[in-house]
Parts: sequence; structure tokens; C-alpha cells
Amino acid sequence: LICLGIMMNATAQQVPPAIPSDPRIENRIEKILKKMTLDEKIGQMCEITVDVVTDFTDKANFKLSEAMLDTVIGKYKVGSILNVPFGVAQKKEVWAKMIRQLQDKSMKEIGIPCIYGVDQIHGTTYTLDGTFFPQGINMAATFNRGMVRRSAEISAYETKAGCIPWTYAPVMDLGRDPRWARMWESFGEDAYVNAQMAVQAVKGFQGEDPNRIGEYNVAACAKHFMGYGVPVSGKDRTPSSISDIDMREKHFAPFLEAIRAGALSLMVNSGVNNGIPFHINKELLTGWVKEDLNWDGMIVTDWADINNICTRDRVVATKKEAIKLAINAGIDMSMVPYEVSFCTYLKELVQEGEVPMSRIDDAVRRVLRLKIRSGLFENPYWDIRKYDKFASAEFANVALKAAEESIVLLKNEGKTLPLVKGKKILLTGPNANSMRCLNGGWSYSWQGDKADECAQAYNTIYEAFCLKYGSEHIKYEPGVTYSTAKDALWWQENEPQIAKAVAAAQGVDVIVACIGENSYCETPGNLTDLNLSTNQTELIKALAATGKPVILVLNEGRPRIINEIVPLVKAVVHVMLPGNYGADALTNLLTGEVNFSGKLPFTYPRLINSLATYDYKPCENMGQMDGNYNYDSVMDVQWPFGAGLSYNTYTYANFKVDRSTFKAEDELTFSVDVTNNGQVAGKESVLLYSTDLFASITPDVMRLRNFEKVEIQPGETQTVVLKLKGSDLAFVGSDKKWRLESGDFRMTCGGESLMLQCSATKVWNTPNR
Ligand code: BGC
Repeated sequence: LICLGIMMNATAQQVPPAIPSDPRIENRIEKILKKMTLDEKIGQMCEITVDVVTDFTDKANFKLSEAMLDTVIGKYKVGSILNVPFGVAQKKEVWAKMIRQLQDKSMKEIGIPCIYGVDQIHGTTYTLDGTFFPQGINMAATFNRGMVRRSAEISAYETKAGCIPWTYAPVMDLGRDPRWARMWESFGEDAYVNAQMAVQAVKGFQGEDPNRIGEYNVAACAKHFMGYGVPVSGKDRTPSSISDIDMREKHFAPFLEAIRAGALSLMVNSGVNNGIPFHINKELLTGWVKEDLNWDGMIVTDWADINNICTRDRVVATKKEAIKLAINAGIDMSMVPYEVSFCTYLKELVQEGEVPMSRIDDAVRRVLRLKIRSGLFENPYWDIRKYDKFASAEFANVALKAAEESIVLLKNEGKTLPLVKGKKILLTGPNANSMRCLNGGWSYSWQGDKADECAQAYNTIYEAFCLKYGSEHIKYEPGVTYSTAKDALWWQENEPQIAKAVAAAQGVDVIVACIGENSYCETPGNLTDLNLSTNQTELIKALAATGKPVILVLNEGRPRIINEIVPLVKAVVHVMLPGNYGADALTNLLTGEVNFSGKLPFTYPRLINSLATYDYKPCENMGQMDGNYNYDSVMDVQWPFGAGLSYNTYTYANFKVDRSTFKAEDELTFSVDVTNNGQVAGKESVLLYSTDLFASITPDVMRLRNFEKVEIQPGETQTVVLKLKGSDLAFVGSDKKWRLESGDFRMTCGGESLMLQCSATKVWNTPNR
């Protein structure tokens, strides 16, 4: 056994640290650790919600309750606080004042700064006047790595302007099931896109050196580790059944890359996979990330998830046992333990020898490392006056550009678009005049329901149309509205007024119908029916029956089924959740001042019983009928992954690669000539896919392997170069190891294809390939 221990240690040491270890930081940690009592150590492993320490007596002059701070910081030595006072975005000055009060207390009582965390999910959405970017699903649709990086840099800058050092982003759960209420937080369905964008987001938030988070950067928290996006029922935080192969090959991919890019913390998936709550899965938490990757970052639970292990998941009967399992599995910090019993129980567990002291020390080291790397010991708070670019025009312009590049044109029959000025337009639909709808959840408040009242400075679609086309040309009659009654659920609609909208269509040249969803977030966003609401469907049918051309603007966080109405309309523009500048971006695109360049980062389903991702495993005869059966997997989609039109057509030619056979170590350089055949400049995302023709486990029909976005002038041809390593074409086999098998691969790019042959099989020990 001892031998085995030594051997395992030796293997662990061979893996270079995911984040280079800094001896000065490590020495400092050891010095602090030596002086800490067990109570102090356990306190560092606790994160509580700000509600517990908020003084609710005077909302206008917000402060923390000194009495509660005495208990939380003074007595229990709590090391971290999260969330938003009163549940709503605050001015940066309010944030800074609050954090100063908190840090003064923390330094006085514990001598260790507190780390404060907030969900700045799509920009600085919890700091009033902060810059809002489109949601993750839109950022993926830009297929623009630089855009994701810049948006994260700006979010970091503005988050820091409120003295907040930590954000619970990026979200990199694969959005592979439109029934799931958090699909829009992710970078879509594809593992490679999520991994690429996650790397950019981590670097944008943290800067280049994770050991020294700069004054304009924040620590990132990659979440939710992992496989959160595919619950079997489609409902949030319900059990999943992900195989080890899929887990390793797809769901782990973005985490692997984010960790290699330096992500300082991870948040765990709330769910249960194959009966095992992620929060007690030692193999994943300790094995896959801490040991296999030699990663010294910090793992935080999601909200109250240690409690959930016994109260919801029922793998143990008591909270104490739940704490034991989670901490021993590798949890370093418990977000919202709910009760102080966490501290009492954990202390007892240590004293009883059920949780080794070495595990506590390891967890505390990781918490301290995060705080030191974040620079909090030197500057627990700072003078925020120097953050003078906060909410600047420069930042707003980046958010506008991101929205423009993210909006996807899916149908444009008879050149209905561009929509030229001078036409009479009816703006209709429940999403036509609402900032809440454009932003989605995590916008000013958790459910996004404060957006309409906080976002006065920004334009709704209706307002942007009035500005762009002149209000004298615009009529507004929603036809269907979402309920604003006090206790209404996000999806509830008022009694429809379809006849009114139809009447308003008289005398106009064109109808712009803005439909989709109201904002929602997490579990409250669960659906019982993925179809678009009946009222909205009826509205579109009635408007189309007027004979006027209808332009459909889809504004929704996940693809709602709309197959009945798509054939009735002339154009479809999918804005998804484009943020505070989304409506301005939309009108810039509709007039043709800016060209469309977004592509769908997910498959838009056509039928309820056909929810598939583009990289499904075939259950059909690929090109040949066999006997009496045509095995039919019914992948009948409304629009495929990667769909997206523009005002141009692009042609692809001369798709080439610099070698015809390859091995794992080889670099493959592909090139393709892309010509803009249109009259205007445009940006085109060039997507490179592979198909493994035969493999020891059924291969996915195709996989995205690289992408590049290029700007091309009218008539111009650009040669786009895309590189791969041979090992990029590997998959995870039945032995759970990465393998590249010899055999044939078809590579495709913009309708062009070529064949490649792998000449040698190679098998790797996970996680490296
Ligand atoms: C969500 C997380 C979030 C946390 C803190 C949880 O309910 O699942 O994504 O970071 O709350 O707000």
C-alpha cells in the first residue's frame, strides 16, 4: 500500500501545475495557517449570503448590521460573503462602502480579508449603470473569441469599480437541452465552442497572470462543474444520467481548458448524476481536477448544496453526514450552509477523526491562496475614483458591437430585409417594448424582473425603431402582453388583444412581431411545454392572415418550438438575449447599416420529439438502405447548429490541407478561400468540422474542431487558415481513455470537404490527449 501511495504521488508530481505555484505565496499561506485556530479555519470554509448581515432599517443609506457582523465575522470567522443587498443591483459607491465596512471588520477580527462574490453573468449586471453585454448564448453566436475576451475585461473592470473581487462566471455548462431553463447562460451546445469561449472569459476576467490578479481584474469562478445542462427531465437541478465517456469528452472539456487558462475557482453542479450528487463525487472533485490537473484552486459549492445532499438527494439522513461526505470529497467552501451548525458539525467531525485535519488545511490553503492571488491582503478595498471608464461610451460601444455580431438572421424570403426607411411599420408582440425581455435573468435582479424599471436609459425594440425609422412611421400595438400582476409567474400572459393588433396592421407596409419569452432564471424558469405560447402563436397567424409581410423577431433564452408560424412569415431574426444595447443593434442590422454575422451556437428544434444536438450519434443508415429498414433518428431541425444568413452570400473553394495522412503529434494546416459575393462588407465565421468514419465506439456524425471569424469586403476573396493537432480528432473510448484511431476522417468546411487518413492509433491516459 505504501508503495502504491509513493507511486501515485510520483505520477501526480509529474503533471505540471495547472497554475504555476509561487513560493512566496505558498510561504505566506503556511505562515498564516500556522497561527489559525480550528474555528478560524472552519470559518474560512463558509460563505454566507449578504442578507444575513444586512441592516434592513434604512434602504436609502445602506449599511451592514454591526451586530450581525459581530456574530458572523467576530464569532464564526466567516471568510466569504456573496450576493446583492436587497436582491437588486446597487450603485458602485454603495458596493464600495459596504465592502469597506466588511473588510475593516474582517481585518480587525480575523486578520484575513473577506472574499466577496457576485454573479456578474453578462456584464456588470449587479452594479447600477454597469455595462450589460448580451448573455452567454449570444456571445457564443458571435463566434468571436476577441469579443468574449473584451467583454470579460470590461465586466472585470466595472466589477472592481465597486470593490468586488470575485465573479461567479463564466458559465460553461453545455446548453444541449432547450427544455433546461439556464441554456442561455451557456455558450451553447458544443463542447469546443464552450471551451474556447471559457478560456477567453477567464483570461478577460483575470488577466494573464492568475497569481497576481490586477487592479482591473477579478477572480473567475468556472461553473457549474459539470454536466449541469442535461438533466433527464429537462428541469433545473434534477438528476442527469451522463456516461463517463460523455462526461470526459464533452462536459469536462470547457473546465479542462478554463483551468489550464488559470481559472482560480470552480463552482459545483447542484445536481445528481447516475445517483451520485456532484457535491460528494470525490473522483470528479479531487480526482479529475485537483489531482489529475495538479490544480491548486478553490472549489465552492452552489447555493445550499451541502444541505441538499441530505434534504433533497437523500444519500444520507443527517446534515452532519452530508458535511462529512462533501468536505472529504474535495469541497473547500460551503456557499450558504444555511445554519451555523455547519461550523459546529464540521468541528465535531474533525475532532472525531471523520474529516482529517489535513483536508481542512488543504481547503483553507486553497481559500487563502485565492485571497492572496486576488491581492486582497494588500488591498481589501481601494479608492474607486480611478475607475473613470465605468459605464463609458467606449464600453457601451463594445456591448453594442457584441450584440450586433450575436444576432442571427434565419430567414429572409424575397429580400424582405433590409427594411428600408420610410415604410410604415407595426411593432407588435409581448417583447416589443420591454428591457426585461431583452436582458433575460441576472439583470439588475436574479429573475431580471427589475430590468424595466432600472433600464430607463436604454432602448426597447419599439424605442429603437422610433429613433431609427422616425416615430411617425411606427405604430405599436402588442396584441399579447406578459402579466405584471404582483404574483404573476414570468410566463403568464394577460388576456390577448389580437384583434387590436390586426386592426393596427391596416395601413402599414410591414409588421415586425417581437415574440418569445419574458425573463426568468434557474428553477423558476422550468417549462411544461417547449411550444411557443398559444397566444403568441395565434397572434402571428392572425397577423400573417392580413397578407402584410411579417418579420419575426425572436427574443428568447432557449429555442421555443415555432414550426407552425415559420412558414407564414417572410423573415426571422433571432436576437436571443442581446442585453441593454440589443434593440439598437437590431435596428442597425435591419436597416442594413450593419451586416448580420451571428450563427446559431445550438440546434433549433422543429419538433418536440426531436431535441437533438448537431453532434448526435447516428441511428440511421448513412446514405444506404439496409434490408427493410431505414433506421430513422428523426433529426428534423428548424435550423441547424451554425445556421445564420447575412446580406451577402459567401462561397467556399479550394479547401485544402497540408498533408493527407497524420498521426496524433502532427499539426494539420487547413486553408479555404472564402469569397464575399455580395454588395456589402461582412463578417463570416468559418467553421471546420470532422467526421470520423468508423471508430471503436459509434462516432458522432460530426464535430466542430476550429473556427475563425473574418471580415471580407464585397468581391474580395480571403484565404482562411485553420490549424489542428492530430490529437484534436481523438475521442474517449470504452476504456475511458482518449484515443485517436487509425482510419479515415472526412473534414468539412462551408460545404467543401476532403478526406484525411490517420496512420497510427494512439491511446492516452486521461485527461491529456
Ligand atoms: C446558482 C449559481 C449562482 C449562485 C449564487 C445559485 O442558485 O445556481 O449559478 O452563482 O446561486 O448566486
